[in-house]
Amino acid sequence: MIFAFRSAGLNAVLFVKDLKVNIVLMGCPGAGKGTQSAKLQDVFHLKHISTGDVLRAEIASGSALGKEIAGIINKGNLVPDELMISILEKIVKATDKGIIFDGFPRTVAQAKALDEMMKRLQREITEVVMIELPESEVVSRIASRRQCRKCGEILHVAPDAPASSACPVCGGELYTRPDDTPERVKHRLEVYHTETLPVKNFYQNSGKYVEINGNQTPEQVFEDIVRVLKKVK
Ligand code: AMP
Repeated sequence: MIFAFRSAGLNAVLFVKDLKVNIVLMGCPGAGKGTQSAKLQDVFHLKHISTGDVLRAEIASGSALGKEIAGIINKGNLVPDELMISILEKIVKATDKGIIFDGFPRTVAQAKALDEMMKRLQREITEVVMIELPESEVVSRIASRRQCRKCGEILHVAPDAPASSACPVCGGELYTRPDDTPERVKHRLEVYHTETLPVKNFYQNSGKYVEINGNQTPEQVFEDIVRVLKKVK
C-alpha cells in the first residue's frame, strides 16, 4: 500500500510503502518516545512496542507477575533483563510489520540480546534514533504528563489543571504515573545514566545511530524523525 504524508515543514509529499524499518527509539524519561512512537505507528503502519506499556498492562491485569513488576517500576528501577527479553520476543514474533522499539533496549545486555533475537528471526534493526532532551527540561515535562488508562494517550496539561480529567481521545480516565513523581524521576534519570546511556555507545558506531533535538515541539521532532527515515529509504 502506498500513501502520502504531508507536513508543513517538509518540502515535498513523502510517499512511502508500509515501512519495513525496525527502529529503536531512545531517549531519557520524558524525551517524547511514546508520543513520537504513536505518531510513527499511525503514519507508517508500524508496530509500536512500548515495553513500559506492556509492563503496565501486566500490572493492570492483577497477575502475580504484575504485582512483582509494580514493585520494581513504581520505584523507578529496571525490570530484569531476562524477563524483558522473553516478553519482547513473544511480541516481535507475533508481528510481521516494521517495529518501533520504545523503551527497549535499556541496558547493553538487552541491546545484545535484541541483535541476537533479530538475527534469529531474520530481521535487523535499521535505525537507532536518540531523542536528546536537556535534563533541565525533564522534570517539568514529566510533572505535566498524564496518560489515559484506556487508550494510552499521553498528554501534557497546564500546572493548574484538575487532578482528574477525561482523555480527549476516548474519554478514559487520565492519571499520573506512580513513577512520575519528582523523586522517582530523579532516580530514573540516575538509572538512565548508569544503565541506558552505555546503550548509546553500543549503537554509536553501527552506522544506524542518529540524534534528534527533542527540545522542540512534538511536530518538529516528528518531522526530524521522518527526515531520517526518508534518507534511509
Ligand atoms: P517507560 O514507560 O518506558 O518510561 O517505562 C516505565 C518503567 O518500566 C521503567 O522505568 C522501568 O521500570 C520499566 N521498563 C520499561 N522498559 C524496560 C526495559 N526495557 N527494561 C527494564 N525495565 C523497563
